[in-house]
Amino acid sequence: MSALDDLHQRVHSCTDCPLHKTRTQAVPGEGSPHAKVMLVGEGPGFQEDRQGRPFVGPAGQFLNDLLASVGLSREEVYITNMVKCRPPNNRDPFPGEVASCGKYLDDQVRLIRPHVIIPLGRHALVNWFPNESISKVRAKPRRMGDVTLLPLYHPAAALHNPGLRETIERDFQAVGKLLEEAPEPAVAEAPGPADAETMEASPGQQLSML
Ligand code: URA
Repeated sequence: MSALDDLHQRVHSCTDCPLHKTRTQAVPGEGSPHAKVMLVGEGPGFQEDRQGRPFVGPAGQFLNDLLASVGLSREEVYITNMVKCRPPNNRDPFPGEVASCGKYLDDQVRLIRPHVIIPLGRHALVNWFPNESISKVRAKPRRMGDVTLLPLYHPAAALHNPGLRETIERDFQAVGKLLEEAPEPAVAEAPGPADAETMEASPGQQLSML
């Protein structure tokens, strides 16, 4: 069994926070163990809890379209969430639940070593940038060691506010640009919030820092 499979197994049997009591099943994440791009959402919703897979409901359909728009399939990226079990009634995860689940995300980053990590929405953003707002930092790549963080709006935002759809589609093109212009990076350490370094450069300069 690979280390990533082993991690998925540990998530499936995890009872470290109260969310295990109300889940149908845990949703560790899925995709390529060699993914260059890791997307991190908030937590499983109704469909994800039923199917044990991330982003398979309406927001997931839109995410699939966004990935396709930059030539990516779900199979070549890795998709996961801040919390691996569905919060009841889709409430926001509590800080203790996020903290308890953080070890799994840390391990996923350490094992997969993505070149680009995409926090989707504010709940994922705070893991790396606790004091920032998603509307201000969205689509601005930031370097963290050898990893580039690219915060984007959560795709579900377009379902609640259709006026955001075009913005989200446009922002997502930054993923394609990063991948086009990125040379093969050195192996990355798992990033932590303390490593954050804002990139206030022009888009061209931003990409050249990859
Ligand atoms: N929203 C998320 O944040 N994650 C999912 O897996 C599905 C919807």
